[in-house]
Formats: sequence, structure tokens, C-alpha cells
Amino acid sequence: MKHPTQKQTLLCIALLLVAVLACQSLAPPALPASEVPPTSVPSTEEPVSTEEPTEAPMEEPADPLAGSDGLGDSLYPEFGNGGYDTKTYTLDITVKDVGTSELEAVTTIEAVATQELSRFNLDFAGFDITSLTVNEEAAEFERDGQELTVIPSQRLAKDSPFTVVVEYEGIPDPMQSEALPFPTGWIVYDGGIFVLSEPDGSASFYPVNDHPLDKAIYTIIVTVPKPYEVAANGVLEETKDNGDSTTYHFEVRDLMASYLTTININDFDEETMESDGGIPIRNYYAASLPDDINKPFARQGEMLDYFGELFGPYPFEIYGSLVMDTEFGAALENQTMSIYGVDMINLDDIEGTESVVAHELAHQWFGDSISVADWSDIWLNEGFATYGEALWVEYDYGREGLDEWVTGVYNEVSAYPEFYLPPGNPAAYNLFNGGVYLRGGLTLHALRLAVGDEAFFEILRAYHERYKGGNASTEDFIQIAEEVSGKELSELFDAWLYDEQLPPMPELDLK
Ligand SMILES: [Zn+2]
Repeated sequence: MKHPTQKQTLLCIALLLVAVLACQSLAPPALPASEVPPTSVPSTEEPVSTEEPTEAPMEEPADPLAGSDGLGDSLYPEFGNGGYDTKTYTLDITVKDVGTSELEAVTTIEAVATQELSRFNLDFAGFDITSLTVNEEAAEFERDGQELTVIPSQRLAKDSPFTVVVEYEGIPDPMQSEALPFPTGWIVYDGGIFVLSEPDGSASFYPVNDHPLDKAIYTIIVTVPKPYEVAANGVLEETKDNGDSTTYHFEVRDLMASYLTTININDFDEETMESDGGIPIRNYYAASLPDDINKPFARQGEMLDYFGELFGPYPFEIYGSLVMDTEFGAALENQTMSIYGVDMINLDDIEGTESVVAHELAHQWFGDSISVADWSDIWLNEGFATYGEALWVEYDYGREGLDEWVTGVYNEVSAYPEFYLPPGNPAAYNLFNGGVYLRGGLTLHALRLAVGDEAFFEILRAYHERYKGGNASTEDFIQIAEEVSGKELSELFDAWLYDEQLPPMPELDLK
């Protein structure tokens, strides 16, 4: 993902690159009020008592066969749910009115119980549920905020496959994530609809096990009134004319994290091409945008082939980008279909915008194919995608260009340490802080300098080869880096990921 603070930085870097201006005009955003420097105030915690409490709180006894209401994420323990593993989602959504987003939908989930289940949870917000079945039998359900608890008529045995069908209707509720300062999920605006769900917006339009740990494959079927069109993840298999409406049927055959699901509705100009290496590309631009809106996307084929050489083969069937005719201050690397608010495109600075395009495209390997095991590992997404920007600079300008990029970023991070926090432990309210991007990218460059180019790119390829289609943690990456390089690297990663102080980079005389 890219969002406004990064955009500012990016513009700044682009300026540095052509050595026109220094970054003096860039002011770091104010810190949230709750951000205070660490202090050495003695702990006020009560000493731990070994005695039994005299008054136990009144609580219903926990049902030992209930699936948990979260997947234990260290930042967002309530995201996702335990007790089952989803295999496939089929979303069948009929949008009756694009202006209000009134819709009727059926979501079918094929899953496998990982424990005996008397009940289990899905993440789902808003709508009226008109029917809910488990294995074709009506199931009871309870709702509490974003938690939908399903009580099947018969217990589900451990390891048994089961099918959940949820029918619902209404208008999606706007979703405000605790991780981001703008609305996420299914967004209606004047002229169309887009979906940007990182990290927890998917529950705004379908019932879901909403954590990257539970990936699945998807069928996405969306019916819209004419003359609207639909662009979603995966391969468009079929378009059906129903008279006054059109049905679009997409297949996502590679495992996908739920937050990367996207459905976009508008009148589009579509552009198709293929990389030299044979990767198909389809781009969608809202039809009201200027004709040259496609310019920053012209080199995506080159990027796909180049990153494929560096990281390992492109992991999906297709790629493409979509630009909406509304400003939402972000771009997001939805699997096979990155989406951009129109304010992320600067036609007066094609090279600067290409950098964002390279960022989202690098995420297809790092973020999408390999997803975080825990949201606190977000630098594995954003640091890598930011380093993708650096590699694209290196592609065009060689090592000298790369060194200039690194120097510019280092000086930026060094000047505003209160904004570019150590990337290894982001706060829940500040997941996408500047540090996970820029200092995360610098961490990879520090690794490259420590192990040499050959071992560095071998590490990236080995990492993708081992974890593609799955999840990885920071520890997993460090282990691969040590395995491939034969070096002990904990000191390097500790300093770059966790130290308050930005480590020096003596090879470039940066300190
Ligand atoms: Zn990103």
C-alpha cells in the first residue's frame, strides 16, 4: 500500500534523484497524541499474588468446542477466527443501485474444521442476513459488531469439510479500521464503487475469516445494472448480458489473503498487453479520466519480467492496474489488480508515478504471494515493496542511481526519526508508519551490503520459493538470510528493525 505520507516522501525522493531540490519542504506529520517517548518511570503494577481471588468474576463457562473469535494476531487479536480453515469463497453479488450500493449477495464458503466445533465465527459487518446454512441445514447465528457467530444444527467433527452459505442484503456500512485514518472496505463514491480493504475492510462486504493466515481461492461473480462494468481480482472468465444488467465472473485460482479482494464498478477504458516473458496484463481506467492516464503503467511488463528475474517467477496468472476517477489518497496491491486513487497519478511526473507502480507490482511477490504471518511483520510487505522502488531506479540508472536513492532515503529517515520509527514493532494504531516503508527498505539494503549482491538476490529468491502462496514471519526471513549467506545476521536485523537509533551505513558514508 501507498498512502499520502509516502507519496510526499516519494515525490521528495524523485526530486533528489534528479538532483533538483533538497527535501526541505517536507514536514513530517505530527505524532499522534498518544505517542510518548519511552520513560523510565518505575512500574506501578501490583505484585503478583499467588492466592486465589476471593471473588471470581461472573462469567458464562466457555464452550470448549467453540472456535475462537480471533486468530491471535499480536496487534489485532480479534482479526480472523479459529477452529477452521477456509478453502474457497464464492461471492455472488448483485448490485441493484450503484449510486447507493444497495445489493443482494450470497457468499458460499468451503472450509475444513481444524477442531470439533459447536460454533464458529466469521467476520462480517452490516447488512440483513436473510438465510444462513451449514451443510444445507439452517443454522442459528448471533451478531456482535464485526463478529458473526454461527451455530450449526450439528457439531462439526475435526477435519470434516463443511459448507456455509450466507444470503444477505442491504447497503454496506462504511468501515473505519483502527489501523488507517481513512475509510476502508467497500466504498461508494459519486460515479462508482471501489474496494480497498487492508487490513480489515473485507468484512464490510462478505462474511470472511479475515486474517492473512487463512488464505483461500475465490470465485467472484458480480452483476451490475447497465452501463456499469466490473473489474475484480483474477481472470475474467465470462461476461453475461442479462438485458438490463451484466454479470461478470472472475476466477482467482491462486491462494489469496482476504484483504486483497477487490471489486470495482464504473465505466472503464480497458487496456490489454503482455510482458515479453508472456505475463498477461489488463488495465482499467475510469472512462472519465484523461486519455494519457495510462502513461505511468506502460512499463509494467518490463517491471514484471525484471522483478521475475530478481525474485523468482511471477506468482500469478495475470496482472494489471486500475485507476478510479476519485481521490482516495492511496494505492493498494490487490492480488493481480492494483488499484490507485487518481490523486496517486501525477502525469507531470511519470517517473515518480512509475515508482508507485513498481511498489505495488513488487508487492505481488512480497505481501500477496508471501503474506504476513502477523500484522506486526508489515515491514515484510512495505519494506520490500519500497526496496522494489529502489530496484526499479537501479534498473534505469544503475548502481549510481541506487546509491543516490539510498542516500536520499537514509537522510530523510535520519532527519525525522520520530516519524520513521523502527520497522520491526509497529503500533496497532500506526501500522503503516513511515518506518515500515523507508527504514524497512533500508534494512534490505543493509542486508545486501552485508552479504553481497549474489547472496542477497539468492536470499530473495529462496524466500519467495519457500513461502510463496503462504505466510512468513520476520524470523522466517532472517533464517533464510542466514542459511543462504552462511552469516550470523541477528545483530544486523536487531539494529535495523528494532533499535531506536538509525544504524550507520558506512559503505555509503551515512551515519
Ligand atoms: Zn505498499
